[in-house]
Amino acid sequence: PAVAPLLSVKNIEVVYDDVILVLRGLSLDVPKGAIVALLGANGAGKSTTLKAISGLLKTEDGEVTRGEILFDGERIDGTDPDKIVRRGIFQVMEGRRIVSDMTSLENLRLGAFTRSDRNVAADIDMVYDYFPRLKERTGLAGYLSGGEQQMLAIGRALMARPKMILMDEPSMGLSPLLVKEVFSIIKQINRDLGVTILLVEQNARAALSVASHGYIMEQGKVVLDGTADELRDNEDVKEFYLGGA
Ligand code: ATP
Repeated sequence: PAVAPLLSVKNIEVVYDDVILVLRGLSLDVPKGAIVALLGANGAGKSTTLKAISGLLKTEDGEVTRGEILFDGERIDGTDPDKIVRRGIFQVMEGRRIVSDMTSLENLRLGAFTRSDRNVAADIDMVYDYFPRLKERTGLAGYLSGGEQQMLAIGRALMARPKMILMDEPSMGLSPLLVKEVFSIIKQINRDLGVTILLVEQNARAALSVASHGYIMEQGKVVLDGTADELRDNEDVKEFYLGGA
């Protein structure tokens, strides 16, 4: 029998500024404990999908006008972003969005803002175990390299002890070597902590190397989905998303 997914996006439509229809009946499921990849070209609507889930759409005058989003069996569409974080969904934004005039440590503490427990210090040590470089770099986060900023953004998400992390293009701006390193840590975090991950990527190869399942979006809807292996073997995916390899 099929287990209910942790996150279920059902046939949503999203409109910006009351008129611009960007998602046109998008559906996807993310099983508990899984890494699922959401792939597609520039402008397909991947970031919009994540913002619809995290509630951040509102801050850009976007709205879910049809369909529903369920997390742990409960409707979350229309919920404010801070309440979504408290329910256990944390988004790592595209372009990192760390606070550049604070240190790494201060950024990590910010990630724990919704927590009232006393284990914050232990979790900072856990983040430093995953990303030892962050501990060495004690200066302002704005001076970190692109890869280090990405690591800090992921570390900050972990500080919220989320059930689910939404990641928007973690490979962006990173060298191939760093992409490998960051994705291998993403996989490790998923295994060690059981955090469910929805991963938006233009780098389909990297995303499918860690995901169990993937969805391909075009113009606001899913056009193809399958296991990572099925997608890697699909001729269209090879031609359009894996560089014809
Ligand atoms: P990218 O990789 O470039 O981020 P994407 O697949 O994530 O692409 P979105 O950023 O979700 O795509 O954008 C989908 C469409 O929605 C694009 O046509 C974009 O111009 C439009 N769009 C995005 N944000 C807004 C906004 N705040 N107001 C109006 N239109 C928007």
